[in-house]
Amino acid sequence: MTSTALVWDERLSSYSFGPDHPLNPRRLELTVSLCRALGLLDESVPVLAPRPATEEELQLVHAPEFIKIVKQLSIPGADPRAGLLYGLGTDDDPIVPGMHDAAALIAGATLVAAEAVMSGRVQRAFSIAGGLHHARRAEAAGFCIYSDLAVAIEWMKRKHGVRVMYIDYDAHHGDGVQQIFYEDPEVLKVSFHESGTYLFPGTGFIDELGAGEGHGYSVNVPLDAHTEDASFRHCFDELVPQLAEAFRPDVIVLQNGCDSHVLDPLTHLRCTTGLYEQLVSTVCEVADQFCNGRIVATGGGGYAVYSVVPRAWSLVWATLRGVAAPDAIPDDWLRELRIESGSAVPVTLRDAPDVFPPAPRRASITETNDKTMRAVRQRVLPLLTGWGLAF
Ligand SMILES: [Zn+2]
Repeated sequence: MTSTALVWDERLSSYSFGPDHPLNPRRLELTVSLCRALGLLDESVPVLAPRPATEEELQLVHAPEFIKIVKQLSIPGADPRAGLLYGLGTDDDPIVPGMHDAAALIAGATLVAAEAVMSGRVQRAFSIAGGLHHARRAEAAGFCIYSDLAVAIEWMKRKHGVRVMYIDYDAHHGDGVQQIFYEDPEVLKVSFHESGTYLFPGTGFIDELGAGEGHGYSVNVPLDAHTEDASFRHCFDELVPQLAEAFRPDVIVLQNGCDSHVLDPLTHLRCTTGLYEQLVSTVCEVADQFCNGRIVATGGGGYAVYSVVPRAWSLVWATLRGVAAPDAIPDDWLRELRIESGSAVPVTLRDAPDVFPPAPRRASITETNDKTMRAVRQRVLPLLTGWGLAF
C-alpha cells in the first residue's frame, strides 16, 4: 500500500455552471460516496481539505487582467459583454455568480495535493475536482476557468525546482496545459486523446511538438474515433515508460478524465472502466521507477455522471493507493443511485468484457493508432534523448 491522500470536501461542488450544463459536480460526491461504500476511504486515509488559491498563486500562470475579469463577472448583475474576450459568457463557460471563488478553490485543491506530495507527507494525492486542462493563460475554455493543473505544476517548479511529467488521458486534448508550457523543457506534456479531427478542441496532432527550448516536450497521441481499451492501452504502454526514461521526471502530474468511456455522451471513444485501472497502474510503476512514486493526480472530464464517473474514479483511487478494488458494488449504494438517476446502472466497478459490442472497424482503428504511436515515438524520442536515433 502506498501513502495516498484525497483532497476533498463538499465546497468543491460549488464549481457548477448550472443544472443543464454537462459538468455536473454530483459526479464528485458520488465518487466519494462509492469509495466509502467500497471501504476504500476508511479512517487510515488522509482526506485533506482544499483551500482557495491566492491571487498571487493564480498569477503563476494566469494574466492579472483575466483574473480581474473573472472576479468582476462573479458579482451578480455585472455586464456580461466584458467576458467574451476572455472566453466567458459562452455555452461552454457561462457566467455564474461566485465563479472566481469556486475556480480558485479547485486550483487550491490541486495545490494542496502538490504540497502534500512535495513535502513528503504522502507519495501520491488525488485532487478529484481538479483537472481543468482547457483553461489558458488569459482565457476560459471547455468548462475550465483557472488551470489548477498549470498552477500546481508552476508552483512545484518554482518552489521545489522539479521536472514535471504531465500525463493526460482525458478524451479531449490537454490543450490549455500544453499552451501554457509550450516553450518549457522542464515540463513534458503527454496527451492521449480522441483525434482533434472529430472532437473539441480540434488540436493535439503529432506535429505539435513544442516551440523554442520546449521543442520535443509536447507529445500528442491523437487516437481514432471508436478506439477501444486494448489499442488505447497499447499506445499508452509503448510510450509512457520510454518517455519517462528519456525525460527523468521528479514528479508526475496525472489528469484522469474518464470521458473516453463508451457511455460518455460527449465523445466517440469506446473504452471501459477497466482501462483506467490499467493506465494508472502503468503510471504508478513509472513513478516508482523514476520519481520515488510521486504522483499528483486530478480528475478531469467525465459526463456519464451515474453510469461511469464514480466507478472509473473509484478504480483510479484504489490503484493510486496500491490496493485491490473489489468488483461488486454494494446493493444499498446501487439502490440509492437507481432512485436518484431513474435508470439502470452497472453493478460492477469494471465493465464485463464484451458487454459493449466491438467497434466494427476494430482492426483498421488499431492499425491507425499503431501507426500514430510509432510516428510519435520517431519524432519525440530523438529530441528528448539527443541520440538522433529513429526507433
Ligand atoms: Zn474531456
